[in-house]
Amino acid sequence: MGIPTRHFDALIIGAGGAGLNAALQLAGADLRVAVVSKVFPTRSHTVAAQGGVNAALANVLPDSWHWHMFDTVKGSDYLGDQDAIEFMCREAIPTVYELEHAGVPFSRLDDGKIYQRAFGGQSQNFGGDQAARTCAAADRTGHAILHTLYQQNIRARTHFFDEFFAIDLVRDAEGVICGALVLEIETGEPLLIESKATLLATGGWGQVFRTTSNAHINTGDGAAMALRAGIPLMDMEFFQFHPTGIAGKGMLITEGTRGEGGYLINKDGERFMERYAPRAKDLASRDVVSRAIVTEVKEGRGCGENGDYVMLKLDHLGEAVISKRLPGIRESSQIFAGVDPVIEPIPVFPTAHYAMGGIPTDRFGRVAMPAGHGSEEVVVGLYAAGECACASVHGANRLGGNSLLDILVFGRLAGKDIIEYVRENPYQRTVDSASLEQAMGRLRRWEHKGEGPTVQQLRADFRKCMEDHAGVFRTEEIMAEGYNKLCELRDRLPEVRLTDQSKVFNTARIEALELENMMDVGMSIAVSALHRQESRGAHSRPDYPARDDQTWLKHSLYYREGDRMDYKPVRTKPLTVESFPPKERVY
Ligand SMILES: Cc1cc2nc3c(=O)[nH]c(=O)nc-3n(C[C@H](O)[C@H](O)[C@H](O)COP(=O)(O)OP(=O)(O)OC[C@H]3O[C@@H](n4cnc5c(N)ncnc54)[C@H](O)[C@@H]3O)c2cc1C
Repeated sequence: MGIPTRHFDALIIGAGGAGLNAALQLAGADLRVAVVSKVFPTRSHTVAAQGGVNAALANVLPDSWHWHMFDTVKGSDYLGDQDAIEFMCREAIPTVYELEHAGVPFSRLDDGKIYQRAFGGQSQNFGGDQAARTCAAADRTGHAILHTLYQQNIRARTHFFDEFFAIDLVRDAEGVICGALVLEIETGEPLLIESKATLLATGGWGQVFRTTSNAHINTGDGAAMALRAGIPLMDMEFFQFHPTGIAGKGMLITEGTRGEGGYLINKDGERFMERYAPRAKDLASRDVVSRAIVTEVKEGRGCGENGDYVMLKLDHLGEAVISKRLPGIRESSQIFAGVDPVIEPIPVFPTAHYAMGGIPTDRFGRVAMPAGHGSEEVVVGLYAAGECACASVHGANRLGGNSLLDILVFGRLAGKDIIEYVRENPYQRTVDSASLEQAMGRLRRWEHKGEGPTVQQLRADFRKCMEDHAGVFRTEEIMAEGYNKLCELRDRLPEVRLTDQSKVFNTARIEALELENMMDVGMSIAVSALHRQESRGAHSRPDYPARDDQTWLKHSLYYREGDRMDYKPVRTKPLTVESFPPKERVY
């Protein structure tokens, strides 16, 4: 079967901040690099990041990478690997300067330095006063970063395959990953891209939940590709619900609003965070604030006719601050909630936001998986970076501003490691026909029209199930019921009905492929959550309310085959400094 084929030194799947920063390193080293993206690169979800990126520059208040490291370890509820966290916090400073020099238009202080705002979970001096560590370009930081990286890649002659959908990884006869089968969305034609190294940078999977801040494209395709390739997903039960999504809609209102001095109130006008986090109040860690909001609503202190949200008050900041520092937020509130925050508070409720877990990698973006007897082995030629990856810097809860940092630091490092790898492995391996046939089979499966529910129906049922059974609070009963429902929904997938108008058939086929990916990823969340019998970070179980370091200070690994779980130890030893031993986490 003659499928058109292209050859590159490196294939990067995903054109968000992680993919583009990796590509820039490779193109700069004169490697032939292909970047595949299912949407035009600057529409990747990185463009929507609002608040900013963390680095201990100390432009506004005193700061150090070591304090940043402490906050990140504590924020992770001690589940993050401390060597990776130390590495990221140190690398943050040169990474932000590199971006500045590449042309990112950061907001400025009067003295010309990069503006930094306060964000949740940040402290000075290992748990002392609030720090100001988040470097911002107004409330459009991701937009500024993504556009700059894209322009630099165009200049460096990176080869872009825009609006191509990656279907599956392919292997050679020895089982080594050597590229991917992709589909040109416009024509529906398959294309085989062979490469010496492949990087998954496909972003998160907020779309598995009904209410989410994530873009439509965030369906977990890369994570599902890894699962199908036999690679486990790590720490999947830890999914972050951002406290302030626009109520009922899910669009994000950045934590930067609270960093600038905004605060939450309940129906009695009470600033309730003072009860839950007496010191940090509204700038406590995200898991803490989300639980507080859900508790206020459950206990009858929610606002509105149905009492199902709380209010975010900003009007006291004044129009000048709101227009200068939060212009995008004012616009989103007016469009999606019909309120002008200069005059009245914004109705908010937690929204599915960020995947802490993902494809397990080492510090260099190399995919690493257990190889028996407690040892680990690198999956040759395969890398992952960005939100789809888990370098284990966020543990059980990510701090705001640390994700842009993660994608930039580890995207860059993966790029650098691929350069070395390709130098040492300069020959292109040959794709095994059975592996290609398997990937093609996945595509062909959706050439039929089906008789069962439509993709949209099944997708809606699935996302509701995830929201109802794997949300902010989880009990054994709720989750076990959810798992059974998910199994039923998964069984219905093969008979799903595609839209039968030939004009839109291609998009319908892609929606089906995405739904299949979302179901695999959703299942990994549900199964991992059901197994972890403790409360840690974003995983909160009223039936096991305490953190249990004795039994559960370990990473979970979910395998698709048989919904199997495995575990591995947390790396508590940093690179150069002393460990931060687990402590009770209070804000
Ligand atoms: C609304 C919002 C605001 C945020 N604000 C902040 C913030 O202020 N600070 C912060 O640190 N973090 C923030 N985050 C989190 C952060 O923005 C993301 O974690 C990060 O941008 C993810 O980057 P990425 O490069 O991993 O993936 P993305 O930017 O999501 O890009 C994924 C890429 O993969 C491609 N892709 C996916 N599947 C396929 C496929 N099958 N075939 C081909 N291509 C594919 C897509 O086309 C896209 O190019 C925010 C997130 C959201 C949703």
